[in-house]
Amino acid sequence: MIRAKNPIVEMDGDQMARIMWKMIKERLILPHVDVPLEYYDLSLENRDATDDRVTFDAAEAIKRHHVGVKCATITPSIAQVAEFHLKKAWPSPNGTIRGILDGTVFRKPILAANVPIAVKSWKKPIVIGRHAYGDIYKAAEMKINAPGKVELVYTPEQGEPDRALVHQFNGPGVVMAMHNTEKSIRSFARACIAYALDERIDIWFCAKDTISKTYHTYFKDIFAEEMEAHRAEMEAAKVWYTYRLIDDAVAQILKHEGGIIWALMNYDGDVQSDMLAAGFGSLGMMTSELVSPGGYFEFEAAHGTVARHYKLHHEGKPTSTNSVASIYAWTGALRKRGQLDDTPELCDFADRLERAVIDTIESGSMTRDLARLIHGTMDPPRDSWITTDGFIEAVAEKLG
Ligand code: NAP
Ligand code: MG
Repeated sequence: MIRAKNPIVEMDGDQMARIMWKMIKERLILPHVDVPLEYYDLSLENRDATDDRVTFDAAEAIKRHHVGVKCATITPSIAQVAEFHLKKAWPSPNGTIRGILDGTVFRKPILAANVPIAVKSWKKPIVIGRHAYGDIYKAAEMKINAPGKVELVYTPEQGEPDRALVHQFNGPGVVMAMHNTEKSIRSFARACIAYALDERIDIWFCAKDTISKTYHTYFKDIFAEEMEAHRAEMEAAKVWYTYRLIDDAVAQILKHEGGIIWALMNYDGDVQSDMLAAGFGSLGMMTSELVSPGGYFEFEAAHGTVARHYKLHHEGKPTSTNSVASIYAWTGALRKRGQLDDTPELCDFADRLERAVIDTIESGSMTRDLARLIHGTMDPPRDSWITTDGFIEAVAEKLG
């Protein structure tokens, strides 16, 4: 039994992701590792019962223990508020946690030799560094119902206010104001540099500074300053930085061989990471790591709660949901715990578990999403895939 010196904050979630979470913990983690888990139940039911207090408590716990691992959670839609009789439409737990910890989300695809990549030119992982603070995720929005003027007003603590006309409405419409901070953008740039130096891969940063001459240009300038400040280390490591326009980059990325970190503003990172996950294969093979400037780390799968599969499970039907990204959330957290506490056995265990996962897939045992890619059809033969628990069991056997 391998012993962890300090706790990991465990955040449970919803639906099919929650079902897999329990299996992973019981079959792959707890039999091998003795780790104190500080448990927070972020299921929609418990968030509603605690008025979302539990989400805030979990984020504060990550600040205390530095490492967290999170299961996917439902962000309730308006329809779900009625369906589950919720007190209100609770905000996205990920948004709340990112808002408290700040930081950058790195999304990295997991590759297996026998799973074909949809985009033929991609040979190596493309890691997305998504700025996880602000922009539309922390915006003020307003519906305009009748003619009138909308302005942005900045009221400094000292001195005269500054105003900018947003729009003179002649009829109904809508407005949004978003913000970001120098501190957060700078730590975003630094996190990307640290990641790139660690992995020895180039960095692209992309925005639309030709159109947004103040907001996007502010990001671009801070990135340029941080690159300049780290020039010596980057040159020594042969890590190169390029700025590209976002639309240009989207076109180029499809012809690129990969092996880069693609740094993106919050919304671009959200959208492009789903594109990338699909391009690399399955959402079930994409991990997500939040690196915060305070030295806090949170690991999760990039996919959601896989609602469609949960419905099947609920009806008593067998499912074939890919647990790889959730397993990698655990290995990421265990490895980080090992690095922070100088417990190399924990890092070795994380490596071994990841190897067991890839060996299982490469020996032909996989879930239906991967069989679809290998067979090139949405309905692969029944003998080409195994069930959700069958896969976790196969990994457990490989792990020994
Ligand atoms: P989803 O869980 O990402 O699943 C969408 C589809 O992608 C699935 O129906 C499935 O396709 C495929 N898929 C995703 N993960 C898979 C896996 N591990 N194995 C196999 N296939 C996988 O998105 P959703 O079902 O539309 O969203 C459900 C809930 O998740 C929403 O309430 C949303 O708010 C939440 N969400 C949470 C997070 C998070 O907590 N990090 C992130 C995103 C979404 P097929 O149906 O074709 O098999
Ligand atoms: Mg998304």
